[in-house]
Amino acid sequence: MHQAAPSNSVASRDIAFHLHSQTNPKLLEEAGPLVITRGEGARIYDADGKSYIDAMAGLWCVSLGFANRRLAEAANRQYEELGFYHTFFHRTGEAVAELAEKLVELTGMSGGKAYFATSGSEANETMVKLAWIYHAARGKPSKRKIIARDKAFHGSTIAAASMCGLPFMHREFGLPLPGFLHTLCPSPYRGMLPGEDETAFVERLANELERLILREGPETIAAFIAEPIHAGGGIIVPPASYFERIQAVLTKYDILCLDDEIVCGFGRTGNWFGKETVGMRPHMMALAKGLSSAYFPISAVVMAPEIYDAVHSFNRQGGAFGHGFTNSGHPVGVAVALEAIRIYEEMDVVSHARRMGARLRGHFDEMARTSPIIGEVRGEGLMLGIEIVADKQTRTPFAPDCQAGLLFDRFAYDNGLVARCMGDVLGFSPPLIIDEKDVDDIAERCAVSIRQLEAHLS
Ligand code: PLP
Repeated sequence: MHQAAPSNSVASRDIAFHLHSQTNPKLLEEAGPLVITRGEGARIYDADGKSYIDAMAGLWCVSLGFANRRLAEAANRQYEELGFYHTFFHRTGEAVAELAEKLVELTGMSGGKAYFATSGSEANETMVKLAWIYHAARGKPSKRKIIARDKAFHGSTIAAASMCGLPFMHREFGLPLPGFLHTLCPSPYRGMLPGEDETAFVERLANELERLILREGPETIAAFIAEPIHAGGGIIVPPASYFERIQAVLTKYDILCLDDEIVCGFGRTGNWFGKETVGMRPHMMALAKGLSSAYFPISAVVMAPEIYDAVHSFNRQGGAFGHGFTNSGHPVGVAVALEAIRIYEEMDVVSHARRMGARLRGHFDEMARTSPIIGEVRGEGLMLGIEIVADKQTRTPFAPDCQAGLLFDRFAYDNGLVARCMGDVLGFSPPLIIDEKDVDDIAERCAVSIRQLEAHLS
């Protein structure tokens, strides 16, 4: 990616001292890191002054762009007043209570409660622990197993990684842990059998889930976890009737439904939450990323009243809820999240994401009409994917060693566009503040990169 770096440069010190997330160490040493120095709106700038439009909002998270003054001021005001306090042992703050109330209201979890953590992984792990308490409090302590789906991404801590349905999250660590199971991914493009329509496909997915539950024993299953729309697994939108059918199976066997809204939440899919886009009715929701536009590491679990009641009844003999993070309800994170939500409301994030999403989708659909390698364009709101294929008619993927997705990423990078290849699915999840000009810019850079890829592969 870069020239050999002088020995005291950021790049060489980074290579010498820093273990990166989700990075191949050998490639990093050979190619060097990309040093990002500043951002503005949807754009970031590297140390050489090159600018990129970041159509991934960092990691699906910087919904309000890279240098939002109001968020910075909200953080600063709070730092000057109270730089830290915790929420253990009955402590709280005005903004903590306000954010909890706001999240319960926004998510429609009426009568429920919000719990704070600092990362998406922690929020997902918290939902697992709450599911265990819920069943134990109702006299069903054997209900412990969690069912996730193939191609799911739920985080990097041990239970969260176990719930991922992506082999690269398990390979080095001997995961998943026992008791973390996986069922089929609802991908119409890749999962439907020849001659199968969507109704039959959904029926097969539901039957497969039921078979897994019966094989394991319904008395051992605590919860099912799902992203409304798979993000890191390749922007997979389930068929319209999927969640209704799946939830009927869950209800039949007294299994909780956990909603990982970490990417889909706060307008991303053209609704406040992804659950509305796909018709999911969860018992708990995990929120992060867009919650603070990623300006502070804060996450939350919003739970239905019956989950809180279980915690309450479990501890009725005087025990305390034995869970908590130092930074749960950190005052600065809470202040930033409240300001982010105020901005989402003022800008009417839902209609904006729908309008900008439709415009970007229109550009991609147009590209797909003429490109020989665009197999499918999919997604909702500003969460869109393009699957590239060797043969559009037969949906034949490119040979893995051709690394078509990675090649696209490289062309895009040269063209000043940050997208995200997930295998051969190209992901787009730009900041939600993008305007028409930004959308057209992303589409133009994407079209140029696709044409370069077509030429390279032909
Ligand atoms: N869930 C989903 C859907 C995610 O995309 C991610 C992160 O990308 C996580 C959970 C984990 O969040 P974190 O990295 O904050 O732990």
